[in-house]
Amino acid sequence: MSDPVFPSIAIVGAGLIGASIARAAAEYGAAGSVILYDASDDVRDRANGLDLGTVSDTLALAVANADCVFLCVPVGALSAVAADAVPHMKTGAILTDVGSVKGEAAAALTAAGDGRIHIIPGHPIAGTEQSGPEAGFATLFRDAWHILTPGNDTSPDYLAAVDALTRFWQALGAKVETMDAARHDRVLAITSHLPHLIAFNIVATAFDMETVEQGEVVKYSAGGFRDFTRIAASDPVMWRDVFLTNKDAVLECLGRFSEDLAALQRAIRWGDGDMLMREFSRARTIRKAIIDAGQDSSEVNFGRNPHPDPEAEK
Ligand code: NAP
Repeated sequence: MSDPVFPSIAIVGAGLIGASIARAAAEYGAAGSVILYDASDDVRDRANGLDLGTVSDTLALAVANADCVFLCVPVGALSAVAADAVPHMKTGAILTDVGSVKGEAAAALTAAGDGRIHIIPGHPIAGTEQSGPEAGFATLFRDAWHILTPGNDTSPDYLAAVDALTRFWQALGAKVETMDAARHDRVLAITSHLPHLIAFNIVATAFDMETVEQGEVVKYSAGGFRDFTRIAASDPVMWRDVFLTNKDAVLECLGRFSEDLAALQRAIRWGDGDMLMREFSRARTIRKAIIDAGQDSSEVNFGRNPHPDPEAEK
């Protein structure tokens, strides 16, 4: 196995993403040692029992010797955590994050910077609807995109830091791309943030109708609703912060979405089958493009077996 990219890393926030980085860094030899910190006593206790690395009782001790510090907390907590961490970091170390909104993350990390460390915001386009340290797994980032939104610094030290962070994520199996933070936030607003908002909304509507329909919504959920419930089961704190910090891009997408939805509503009302056929056929071509790009499986029902063998499941 080749030398680790970083002799030592610190992970602040031992949830799904933090625990996955810890597991992947160990599994693929990307870091010599891993130290974790979480603000929650309960999460620290649970992380301790999971063999993720050394769990520190203080943020200061966790980051003190790290060559790279990964902030894996909700976007709304980045400002405070970065400000607490930076004074304890060693000169020349890298401060990065995994937050889903990059404009806000870049502002939070930059405001905390003191000129001694390298700030390189990032976002893994990988995740699940689960949270907490138990949810982390080593292969989460394999074949997934990891977007870095570096600053304008062109000094050799900064470029070497960006290169090291790129190699770290590549060692975890990710495909790394650099992008402007504002562009990232516009793209993610339509590919991730709006779909989550729609899922939260459709589940809320169905929840209200469930009482009227007396259990029939859950009973017949396999008709498409079930897939929305998976997305809508995502962490409420994380998603509250995403919508509060990527407000402009989400509102822009939502405006266009509402107009398109109104057009479909009108087509249904006036029996415009041609319009419905046109729109639904266009949607199929996007699905095909996603499969052709290797972003999803072409298997029927995502390869999910509707009749699992109870013996094989044991
Ligand atoms: P998570 O499983 O809920 O983990 C976040 C952890 O951070 C929790 O243990 C939380 O503790 C802890 N925390 C909160 N405030 C803190 C603070 N001030 N100091 C230290 N620890 C703190 O969430 P996650 O899914 O890993 O998400 C973490 C970040 O990754 C978010 O910024 C999110 O936008 C980003 N992200 C998530 C996904 C995804 O699919 N989940 C994908 C890509 C990126 P408590 O639970 O006690 O508050």
